[in-house]
Amino acid sequence: MDHLTDDFGYMVFNAETMRSLLPEDVYKSLKHTIQRGEDLDITVANVVAGAMKDWAISKGATHYTHWFQPMTGITAEKHDSFIAPGPDGKAISEFSGKSLIKGEPDASSFPSGGLRATFEARGYTAWDPTSYAFIKDGSLCIPSVFCSYGGEALDKKTPLLRSGEALNTQAMRILKLFGTDARHVEAKVGPEQEYFLIDKELFSRREDLVICGRTLFGAKPPKGQELEDHYFGAIKPRVSAFMKELDEELWKMGVFAKTKHNEVAPCQHEFAPVFAGANIATDHNQLTMETMKRVADRHGLVCILQEKPFDGINGSGKHDNWSIATDRGVNLLEPGVSPHENAQFLLFICAVIKAVDEYQDLLRISVATAGNDHRLGESEAPPAVISMFLGEELTEILDCIERGVPYGGTEKNFLEVGVHVLPSFPKDSTDRNRTSPFAFTGNKFEFRMPGSAMSVAGPNIVINTAVAESLRQFADELESASDFKSALNSLIRRTVKEHKRIIFNGDGYSSDWEKEAERRGLLNLRTAVDAFPYYTSEKNISLFERHKVFTEKEIRSRRDILTGSYAKIVIIEALTMCDMAGKDILPAIGKYIGQLASTVNSVRAASAPVPYHESNTLVRLCELSDAVSAALKLLDSAVSRARTEPDVSKRALVCRDELIPRMAELRRAADEAETLVERGCWPFPTYGDLLYGI
Ligand code: ADP
Ligand code: MG
Repeated sequence: MDHLTDDFGYMVFNAETMRSLLPEDVYKSLKHTIQRGEDLDITVANVVAGAMKDWAISKGATHYTHWFQPMTGITAEKHDSFIAPGPDGKAISEFSGKSLIKGEPDASSFPSGGLRATFEARGYTAWDPTSYAFIKDGSLCIPSVFCSYGGEALDKKTPLLRSGEALNTQAMRILKLFGTDARHVEAKVGPEQEYFLIDKELFSRREDLVICGRTLFGAKPPKGQELEDHYFGAIKPRVSAFMKELDEELWKMGVFAKTKHNEVAPCQHEFAPVFAGANIATDHNQLTMETMKRVADRHGLVCILQEKPFDGINGSGKHDNWSIATDRGVNLLEPGVSPHENAQFLLFICAVIKAVDEYQDLLRISVATAGNDHRLGESEAPPAVISMFLGEELTEILDCIERGVPYGGTEKNFLEVGVHVLPSFPKDSTDRNRTSPFAFTGNKFEFRMPGSAMSVAGPNIVINTAVAESLRQFADELESASDFKSALNSLIRRTVKEHKRIIFNGDGYSSDWEKEAERRGLLNLRTAVDAFPYYTSEKNISLFERHKVFTEKEIRSRRDILTGSYAKIVIIEALTMCDMAGKDILPAIGKYIGQLASTVNSVRAASAPVPYHESNTLVRLCELSDAVSAALKLLDSAVSRARTEPDVSKRALVCRDELIPRMAELRRAADEAETLVERGCWPFPTYGDLLYGI
């Protein structure tokens, strides 16, 4: 063992630690709970809690908290110390099995979308033993689900776990038909995380960054990302020190931090872990985002996770790499070498194709936020139209199977599924299309639409459930077939025929594609507000109910939470703009107008010709000052309209159709003024300062 691997997971109550600290029977019983979802006996929980407490205290922890993921998209925690009053006024340390299993935070201030009235404020958190407890900042964190007293999910973890169960159930039915030794399958997820690092001092001088996490004003800098000199470039020392500490912190907490590099935009970087089970990967991504912010602060930096911090500069996404694997370590999206493995592979690929085509709307909703709207379809991220990239070879193979014609690869051959070996196709040829929203990259799919700030729970809940539904239908059909092979062949052929419209291997950024997609009947839900209503369509409610991922009530609440928070974000941004325009920008323009006017007056008094520059700038700035005030007034009244609109869907529409265009108008005038006002007079750091300030 070396220092690097020795320290890994030092702060995690993982299997190895449990095995060494728990009595054998207790460990076994806990393992069954973890692996088979069996209930945890309270006497076992008491022993586990005691061992956890002693372990945590030995590592310097003083508190414990249930660590959960409410609908805000970030994590929540409420810390209690291990300290309890003992005899004779002394203190003892205490942590019971009951406190480990269940917490009861006052949950009235978390979004519930009407699931929980304020008079029944309490919700409860329950330990998710499939995700290890860990120590963060002196507290033992217990990964937990968060539910209302009626049992409705108020978080992102509960439905993710349920969707994993649905996928397992249906995938196992298929695997049994192929004769499997696997007992369990699980979605594997590797989220690539993009982010910006900005100097803290510069950041703190911009109200828009502090309040909204993104700039709402700012003229283009002389240099943006056009030279493409940042991508994979040498990492600056300050950034490198941040990344090093981030890795070390994450390793200690059991996150397999793997890849780090500079991204396309100046100040933009990427982080990727080694993939893990969807539940753990989601927990770890939340932990990573949180740790990024904390570590950045120690380096005099701010980590921006918002999707579009700078206009005209690439925003940040989070590629959700997704595959399915068995407990025997077999990746079901790996073609394999025998006809048998190939057939199984093709069936799983078809399940994903069908899922993506039938649930385009849900995939779109799973990435729909006010922030992500600024990226999708902006030639930096996939468009709002969902399509799949399979690579030429795989597409051609599917095409030949569908049409029943010979495959024109290396040897011309008919491809009967389950009889012939698939022609090998080079893996790297499937990794080149960066414009596709949902790309097959050799042995996994990469969903590229999620925004950098969001939890990957949402997208993975949809992928897991939609694929589970395809597999359910496949299993129903194949289980009752008299001739498995011919049923399999016709099922694959039919699925390709019915769903091939979703496959598109070309340039997803081109405008031709939008037209072509429309011709194919694919959905183009340009904004989040267009997408939200689809959540509660009959088709989608029945999908989620059938697989017990959401009840109808839970879906409706989630639609309202998403719609409501879209409106809240836009309104906060609009108010921030009004504040900055009124208190910073107009006074700055006025001040400089005053300076110019006095120059012009003095020149005139000296009977010299007034220079064009001064007189033109003066006139233009007076016009712009009026334009800013006028736009400000219009925006202000639109904000009032939005805020007083009681219906949440209508409020979101006012935000999209009235606030956002007016914000753009206000920005246009202010940004032009920025280019004319003397540097020293401008009230906050410019794009150039921010992007090149490290
Ligand atoms: P890039 O897409 O930038 O070329 P990689 O292909 O190395 O990067 O992988 C990106 C992410 O995908 C990593 O987090 C990696 O662990 C994850 N990944 C790799 N294989 C799988 C898989 N079979 N299932 C899910 N995620 C995977
Ligand atoms: Mg990738």
